Amino acid sequence: MLKRQPISSLVDSLKEKKISVQELFDQFHEVAKENKNNSYNLVLDPEYQKSNIKASQERYSAGTNLPLDGIPLGIKDLFCTKGITTTASSKILSNFIPQYESFVTQQLLNDGAIFIGKNNCDEFAMGSSNETSHFGPVVNPWQNKNSPSEKLVPGGSSGGSAAAVAEGSCVASMGTDTGGSIRQPASLCGLVGLKPTFGSCSRWGIVAFASSLDQAGPITNCVEDAAYILNSISKHDFNDSTSSNYQRDDYIKDIDKKLDHKIKIGIPSDYLKNVTPEITAQIENTKKLLAGHDIEFIDVAFETTDYALSTYYIIAPAEASSNLARYDGIRYGVREGGSNLDDIYLNSRTSGFGDEVTRRILIGTYVLSAGYYDAYYRQAQKVRRLIKDDFQRIFQEVDFILTPTTPNEAFKIGEKLDPIAMYMNDVFTVPTSLAGLPGISLPSGLSSNGLPLGVQIIGNYFEEKKLLQLSNLIEKELSFNE
Ligand code: GLN
Repeated sequence: MLKRQPISSLVDSLKEKKISVQELFDQFHEVAKENKNNSYNLVLDPEYQKSNIKASQERYSAGTNLPLDGIPLGIKDLFCTKGITTTASSKILSNFIPQYESFVTQQLLNDGAIFIGKNNCDEFAMGSSNETSHFGPVVNPWQNKNSPSEKLVPGGSSGGSAAAVAEGSCVASMGTDTGGSIRQPASLCGLVGLKPTFGSCSRWGIVAFASSLDQAGPITNCVEDAAYILNSISKHDFNDSTSSNYQRDDYIKDIDKKLDHKIKIGIPSDYLKNVTPEITAQIENTKKLLAGHDIEFIDVAFETTDYALSTYYIIAPAEASSNLARYDGIRYGVREGGSNLDDIYLNSRTSGFGDEVTRRILIGTYVLSAGYYDAYYRQAQKVRRLIKDDFQRIFQEVDFILTPTTPNEAFKIGEKLDPIAMYMNDVFTVPTSLAGLPGISLPSGLSSNGLPLGVQIIGNYFEEKKLLQLSNLIEKELSFNE
């Protein structure tokens, strides 16, 4: 079974000629092409990848292989891929073929990765269950052991990415996270999901949702794989004005290093106020397993957690309404007819956007409109600053923060029809996004229904290296992966 092997051991097998790049690709492609969980909007034709596979094999033969050479990856269908349809899972972009490659996917290609296909996601990354996709919902490969016939959501919006890794159709997949879209699906599918610090990975060529929040990151089987991918994608990019020129670390180096000093981890009591005992148990269990290490757990309390979701649901739709104004049926994607220009705009947008996207555009334009801007948008920006300050206050006391990733396990497709119930899924991930901090979700155990649950570790700005080292340690102790 090569499927669950970490990238490092796949690279070793390729180097030692235990398997060829083509054989590795075929194994994953075989599963992907069935698309039985609808985790792909597009599975690439093996013919298309032939020359990449050949070039990768030649590098292995010459002993000049690149860090991700021959590694089959899934890509959320929100990343522009040159010459390959990129839909954002929306009808309005269903015929869009980008002329250029996103910065992040270009880095992966430069490092030798081979793409399997474009992963399904919520439309324009708006959702927490992958049910808003124009191409239908994604099914979580995990089953409720007490009710195995139920079809469950994989989480969202990077639900196709998470399901693809969990079903074994790619080694890892690139996702994006605006308010939780990497961490939440990773948690519901028993995987590792890393949202780097805002500004770590360029947004250039990623279909924009909320520009001050959007961040690319990997969904992987293990922490080490997340470090491999981060090494490739976290680079400064002149084309993104919010891309940081912070000096990046080598995230693989010393990932196994033992803690050489005592660390303090804060557990926010306000995050555990209304959660089920199963969720509290994830935190308790993590604490217990780490008891043998030089770690002090400290109870901390945020003052702003209750305001985070409402702040997010003003700022994110405001930015979305502005970003999505470009889809007018003239410049991009699907155009509907009309007797004048206004009608073309109206008809194209009405038929091109789904309900959730329309809802966000309406909320966004409302909170930005004259007369409401001060009451909503400006106010939300002020609260956002308070949330950021609240995190910095806590980080004066502790090195990391440990929280549940989600308030619940994977739920049934169609179960959460009320938007507010859906928005609640991100209650633990949204504050980190508003503050721009890095967060990682790690599998922490199974619920009584046999479904995966996760914990989130939040670090301070650009402390991904330490975050990954701690996560690696936690992963070893939790030994969730068989
Ligand atoms: N679920 C949240 C939303 O719908 C977050 C989505 C995301 O991170 N892209 O906005």
